[in-house]
Amino acid sequence: MSLVSHRFRPFGGSIFAEMTALSNKHGAVNLSQGFPDFDGPAAAKDGAIHAINAGHAQYGRMIGVPPLNQAIAVAWERDGRPAIDPDAHITVTSGCSEGIVAAILGLLNPGDELVVFEPFFDFYVTAAAMAAATPRFVTLHPPRNPAAPDAAFSFDESELRAAITPRTRAIVVNTPHNPTGKVFTRDELTLIATLAQQHNAIVITDEVYEHLTYEPRLPHISIATLPGMWERTITLSSLGKTFSLTGWKVGWAIAPEPLSAAVRAAHQFLTFCAATPLQHGAAAALRNPGSYAADLRTLFAANRDLLTDALRRAGLTVFPSHATYFLMADHSALGFPDDRAFCTHLTANIGVAAIPPSVFYADPTHGRALARFAFCKKRDTIDQAVQRLSNLTRRSAT
Ligand code: GLN
Repeated sequence: MSLVSHRFRPFGGSIFAEMTALSNKHGAVNLSQGFPDFDGPAAAKDGAIHAINAGHAQYGRMIGVPPLNQAIAVAWERDGRPAIDPDAHITVTSGCSEGIVAAILGLLNPGDELVVFEPFFDFYVTAAAMAAATPRFVTLHPPRNPAAPDAAFSFDESELRAAITPRTRAIVVNTPHNPTGKVFTRDELTLIATLAQQHNAIVITDEVYEHLTYEPRLPHISIATLPGMWERTITLSSLGKTFSLTGWKVGWAIAPEPLSAAVRAAHQFLTFCAATPLQHGAAAALRNPGSYAADLRTLFAANRDLLTDALRRAGLTVFPSHATYFLMADHSALGFPDDRAFCTHLTANIGVAAIPPSVFYADPTHGRALARFAFCKKRDTIDQAVQRLSNLTRRSAT
């Protein structure tokens, strides 16, 4: 009999842990869990090593070590956003993942509703379960014509309106979006902002891929910068994606005082603080970003194109990805019964691991035809995956 609490039982094991383990078992090229297979910048590492040697070995301040809060404020302003107070408005968390849980647990009461766009990063929904809140889903539909130049996943305004009820406490936005690679447009964000204001809802926005956008015509926009939105937005981001340091687990929540108070109410009892030396390393990276993110964009955009071509040659329909580590593809032409069967075959027999995205949908059948591929890798790794994908054929022929 399972000893897992009722709260977590519906969710099973993390798909990221499962697919990475399967990939390692089969010696596959791991394009499942999203993490780079190369190192972060020297400034970050030197900063953390220096902090360890300088004896920064004890708990840090609950809201973040002062140099990191300051560096986050400067980085936020450097990207053209209005000035913020490093201590009043920034809470450092153990990765954005903790920020998501802290924001949702700190803000929502049992019975409150949370609007979530699907496919979703799984933490939003598990955090809602921890808060005994109810998620309401709005589907991002794949583009009808994936080959059109402007093709992108999109939602229906009527479906968003229908998901908002008198119990709606918050709307979760994730832009750039994992797993689709979508960048929410100004029009889409304006609609969400208008509805949030009409219904007095808070927006929790996960912007960890803010620096990984590949189409100049689709720039990242922080919803907190739209008129009337600073007061009602918690903006989450992290070090991991921008500096290829996903394992450092340093993230942050930016919000006005009343919303920061909600995040901190939970954060202080979840982890209290992120690892102190790594916070100092994070501050060093943010102070000296150099061309690290620009170089990543160049590498990842080229990887995305190589992988897109290889998947198309193999018979998949690839949906354009404009940002993030990921792209989504439809495998239905290959004849597999569902996404798990396809991704398991791909990992075990072809030697390339991908994520079956049905776990990112309230109704798993919506993800059955899809697979998510990560392209946040060295060029050599992508070349190897492309090579292996040339062995992929229709199921009837294997
Ligand atoms: N964000 C990563 C992904 O989507 C995974 C994070 C995790 O492993 N929990 O692949």
